[in-house]
Amino acid sequence: MRPILLIISILSILSNVPAQTPAEHVKAIQDDARVKKAFDYLDQNHDQILREWIAITEINAPSKQEQERAKFIESLLRKHNLDIRYDSAGNLIATRKGSGGGPVAVFDAHMDTVFQPGLKIKATVRDGRVYAPGVGDDTRNIEALLATIRALDAAKIKTKGDLVFLFTTDEEAGMTGARQYTKDNKGKVDYYIALDGGYEGFTYAGIGITWYRHHFIGPGGHTRSRTPPYSATLPMARAIARIYELKVPTNPSSNLNIGMLGGSEVVNAKADDAWFSLDLRSTSNEVIADLEKKIAAILDEEAKREGMTVKTDVISSSPAAVLPGNRESHLVKIAEAVHRAMGFDPPIGNAGSNNSSAALLQGIPSISTGAGPCNDAHALTENCEIEPFYWGIKKILLLELALAGLAQ
Ligand SMILES: [Zn+2]
Repeated sequence: MRPILLIISILSILSNVPAQTPAEHVKAIQDDARVKKAFDYLDQNHDQILREWIAITEINAPSKQEQERAKFIESLLRKHNLDIRYDSAGNLIATRKGSGGGPVAVFDAHMDTVFQPGLKIKATVRDGRVYAPGVGDDTRNIEALLATIRALDAAKIKTKGDLVFLFTTDEEAGMTGARQYTKDNKGKVDYYIALDGGYEGFTYAGIGITWYRHHFIGPGGHTRSRTPPYSATLPMARAIARIYELKVPTNPSSNLNIGMLGGSEVVNAKADDAWFSLDLRSTSNEVIADLEKKIAAILDEEAKREGMTVKTDVISSSPAAVLPGNRESHLVKIAEAVHRAMGFDPPIGNAGSNNSSAALLQGIPSISTGAGPCNDAHALTENCEIEPFYWGIKKILLLELALAGLAQ
């Protein structure tokens, strides 16, 4: 290496060494006059934020049917100086270019909801809360991103790195939107922040999730046909009772749920196919594999006892997403400093279950957090507190700037 190049590279290394601690870095941004202006803008526009939040919420967007909602969000983004495009998965991507020399920070909020197509959604506001299916998961975070874009523009803030606002499809049904985006953009993204749920804290790793449908297949028959053979619901019931007796560890954090059942189509027939769903989760892939083995053995034993067979369909599977060293990474330290600067004592967890996992599985540093406290996700009674949401939006704005860097 020639001396001049050596000097340049040493200088560039030195300039990349953060002279400040994460807390100092965040404080300097928080104290910047432009950032105060952006916060003031948010304070002056509460009503507009609430109205827009409700308008987006009232466009139902079941997984894989996000187009109408995406078009509406796009129309709002078009009012700003952003590069806007869709990708092959239907994700809506809006890039706010930086001045250069900073990292690329992607902020994701998913557009899809879990409610049935055609559901008419009408939000109501009472006692400081807004009620509507989907208002929290994940429309609050869509609105948070839109509000930060407006606040950044109003305060004429430029960042060093690009801010990418990513409105993803199909999070609820298998994260195919985020999987596609992170696969396409691997190597081009420095930080991936999935805004999904959350308010006070954040997560830096993803829980592994496998969904199964287990079937017991038997001979069936009329109620009055000779018994045994029984309805296939009998081994199913016995198996479920035994599965719930299995020890499911709390550390590493793990869960098991049997939520759906099916059998015969009519009352007066024995089921020839009795099935149940199983949702198995753990931050350890070994725990999932171990429980899977034990459950398979129970199913086999109970089927044999009644002379029946077992068929297992894996509906979806996503492994635990753990990036070595992520807990001590720049991203996690900055996120922690931002939360503290906003007055939170953030719970930091490793059992997230959202688009952040898709990024981590591609090796992209990622966390997940959110902009406001909500209840009853995935239920028709879903609701969010309104007042803390404005504070949560400021937290997201500060996180955007702390990661992408303020340009002069
Ligand atoms: Zn969600």
